[in-house]
Amino acid sequence: MRFKHVLFHGLWLNAPAALSVETRSVPSQDSPLFWLLSGLLVLAVFVIFLLLKHLRKTASSVSQPPAEITGFEDALEQSHRRYKSVLQTALDGFWMVDQYGTILETNQAYVTMSGFSKEEIVGLKISFFEVNESPEETRQRIQKIMQTGGDMFQSEHRRKDGSVWPVEVAVSYANVDGGMFFSFIRDIHDRRLHEELINMREVLNELVYQGELDDILRLALDKAEKLTNSQIGFFHFVDDDQINLSLQTWSTRTLKEMCFAEGAGLHYPVNEAGVWVDCIRERKPVLHNDYASLSHKKGLPEGHAPLLRELTVPIFRDDLIVAVIGVGNKQADYKEQDIETVTRLADIAFDFVERKRAEQSIEYMAYYDTLTGLPNRDLLADRLTQAIAQHERSSELLAVCYLDLDGFKPINDTYGHDIGDLLLKEFSRRIAEMMRNGDTIARIGGDEFVILLTSLNTPHESEEIVTRILKCANDHFEVGEHLLEVEASVGITIYPVDGSSAETLIRHADQAMYQAKQLDDANIQLYDPVEEQKMRARRDMLDQISDGIDNNEFELYFQPKVDLNNGCVIGLESLIRWNHPEKGFLTPYQFLHYLDSTPEEIKLGEWVMETAIKQLSAWQNLHKALSLSVNVSPDHILHEGFVDFVEALLQRHPDVNPANFELEILETSAIEDIDHMAEVMQACSQLGLRFSLDDFGTGYSSLTYFHHLPIDILKIDQNFVMNMMDNVSDLDIVEGVLKLSDTLKRPVVAEGVENIELALMLMYLGCHYAQGYAIAKPMPAAAFDDWQKQWQRSNFWQELRAEDLDDEHHFELKVAMFTHRRWARLLEEYVKDEPYSQKPILDHSRCQFSHWYHGIGKARYGSRPSYGFILPKHTQLHELGEKLVKLHDDNDRAQARDGLRELKLASEELNDMLILLVK
Ligand code: C2E
Ligand code: CA
Ligand code: CA
Repeated sequence: MRFKHVLFHGLWLNAPAALSVETRSVPSQDSPLFWLLSGLLVLAVFVIFLLLKHLRKTASSVSQPPAEITGFEDALEQSHRRYKSVLQTALDGFWMVDQYGTILETNQAYVTMSGFSKEEIVGLKISFFEVNESPEETRQRIQKIMQTGGDMFQSEHRRKDGSVWPVEVAVSYANVDGGMFFSFIRDIHDRRLHEELINMREVLNELVYQGELDDILRLALDKAEKLTNSQIGFFHFVDDDQINLSLQTWSTRTLKEMCFAEGAGLHYPVNEAGVWVDCIRERKPVLHNDYASLSHKKGLPEGHAPLLRELTVPIFRDDLIVAVIGVGNKQADYKEQDIETVTRLADIAFDFVERKRAEQSIEYMAYYDTLTGLPNRDLLADRLTQAIAQHERSSELLAVCYLDLDGFKPINDTYGHDIGDLLLKEFSRRIAEMMRNGDTIARIGGDEFVILLTSLNTPHESEEIVTRILKCANDHFEVGEHLLEVEASVGITIYPVDGSSAETLIRHADQAMYQAKQLDDANIQLYDPVEEQKMRARRDMLDQISDGIDNNEFELYFQPKVDLNNGCVIGLESLIRWNHPEKGFLTPYQFLHYLDSTPEEIKLGEWVMETAIKQLSAWQNLHKALSLSVNVSPDHILHEGFVDFVEALLQRHPDVNPANFELEILETSAIEDIDHMAEVMQACSQLGLRFSLDDFGTGYSSLTYFHHLPIDILKIDQNFVMNMMDNVSDLDIVEGVLKLSDTLKRPVVAEGVENIELALMLMYLGCHYAQGYAIAKPMPAAAFDDWQKQWQRSNFWQELRAEDLDDEHHFELKVAMFTHRRWARLLEEYVKDEPYSQKPILDHSRCQFSHWYHGIGKARYGSRPSYGFILPKHTQLHELGEKLVKLHDDNDRAQARDGLRELKLASEELNDMLILLVK
């Protein structure tokens, strides 16, 4: 007898008392001691078996056994029974097999597990039960075990009902009676299930991150199918209401072999489904082993393999059924064990479904806008970057369109955020529906969206598409009980015309959108790099202006206005200057144009008025009759809160007499919205302020305007004044304005009085109030006192006073004389290289004087004898002037200056001849 080794993986016996101590004291089933004990048991059984056999043989030959033998036999018999009962009560199955593979003996455990009776089993060959091995393979294994003494392996056995169960077999060999095998057969279903589940968990752990939801479910289904020997598997979700379910997926095999397995995503009520939802109705696992005979089954879709059996299991979470998993068409009947298998597996699978969902929602939140479900800015940037990369390989264009809703904020403010949100959702839905394949619409801010259009052939195409989108978006929206309307502005930039990076393309489209918003007539604007450059410069400048106000970089200069009749200072005009930290001293023309229609314009305007009124308040205490004017921009005065601001301003400075505070408004601005302008001006007038109409003559005002507007003073535009000596039409305008003011009974201030001739001329024309460089340049407030003290001693005032201004009759003659004097003065200044001097008109036939001479002069004085001498004198003067200018230009400055004396004499001669003409 040789027992080489006994490779039991554990004996799991229902151990009798005698053995229980040992088994219990064995710490681990894997320890060598354990194997030894198990081996000993088999050995003991075997020895007893042989002894009994021998004794029976002897007993049959000897009719009366001696007493001592009988005693021994009894002991043996007892021992045999004991061990037999051990085998009978063991949990593992037991076979005793002869060398031909015939089963001689089995135990209750195997009978239970296999479903066969002992009588059926004994006498059968191993291969009857063995599923995996052919009879030949079994024979070989027997041979091998005879040599090695034992073996342990896993296999599968067939049950009586045809089903298959996984087994682990431990065999020992005893070389008696031609060879005898003792097999312990263990049902390893649980262990295998456990291993399979562990293995499934591992794979699912990866799938959560790398696969889709269906990959997870399919893996579970394939496993369920395998572990239950099924041929169909499905997994569907149950809605929270427990009334509906939505089809999710099927096992790989079902999808391949059962053509009905489609319709993922389909929703339908539980009560319309077939018997496979019985587990939902009964809220527990249900198995149907006789599908065909079920009365409440529904028909199967055409082409579906006939259903034989079915096992369905509900998956619970917190009392709610969240899903069903089902397997079907097992060869044999489904059993409790299958329910357990599927239930455990389903539970794990659903854990992973939940993890996947969490994973997806985290991913979703990172890339999608939660309100509208549209891609967010990050996903857009990804897609745009991808599109740009793909573009390398094609000649098509991409368009990045930045869309911003107009008038969304008021909707939010009026109806509340919930309505606003609904509107955004509906708007997004509409636009998303219009997207072509490959296009993207993303929500990247409150009411801002970006549309990425791919595969365009021309930039124009993008405009067409966007126009269509806008048309559809502009239709009414029914939100709750409201009928809402929104419009949108869109900026578009085209790649690769604009070859920027993804982020920059979005920014450019945004800038173009901003432009579109500024324009009244367009709501779609293509990005234009040049325009953009200007815009950027402008925005930058506006920021600087705003900061400049905060940092006190602005300053008001003041320019006096005087009454030419008596030299009185009637008031001052405030003119803004900017002490720019880098660019130095800036005049209004260098920065005011940036302000058009911006919030900064209002900010600066308010600063000017505040500063001016403070100054006025300070001066009022010193110079009582002083008035101060400020220039108010059209947008500022038409700005909503203007009147309130003025009112508050006056309240803050109660010491200031509002009548001394004058607002200069541009004639052009007064025309634009005459009704509104009139309203504001009336309101301000009521507060006591006065108004002057600035730059009068430039705006094509007609008389009607004056009736509408409370205008106190007219200011003739300085360009007319300065040019009236050289340009007859400008002189006509000045005259016209003066006549008009006479009719309207409004005083007129002439701007741009740069020299004494202009002043004289204005006096002759009847305009007494003047402002200009000849009187004073704009100055800081602190310089005003000194100026005022010296003003009446200035050359200008002295000269003006010396003029004989009584003769009002020969107006044109005086004009001719002044024009000539101005010509002579200009020439002198030029030859003397005085600053800002300019070359006068040298051609005698083109100057203002000759205009007079051949016109009014001839008509009035043509018959006088001295008239004829005047023209040659004038011509001679011009020739002389020409000569001096030439000398000067040829760098013969000294000689040129010497010539001035001759010019002065000739000029006086001409003057005398003109006086003679009158007398
Ligand atoms: P304006 O209201 O017509 O102001 C008169 C401009 O003519 C001032 O230019 C002044 O310096 C200049 N000026 C005065 N006398 C003469 C002269 O004899 N010859 C010449 N060539 N120019 C003369 P400034 O200060 O450069 O202001 C330019 C314009 O800027 C102003 O024209 C006014 O429209 C605007 N402005 C000035 N300050 C403000 C302000 O505080 N707010 C607003 N909104 N606009 C202002
Ligand atoms: Ca002005
Ligand atoms: Ca002006």
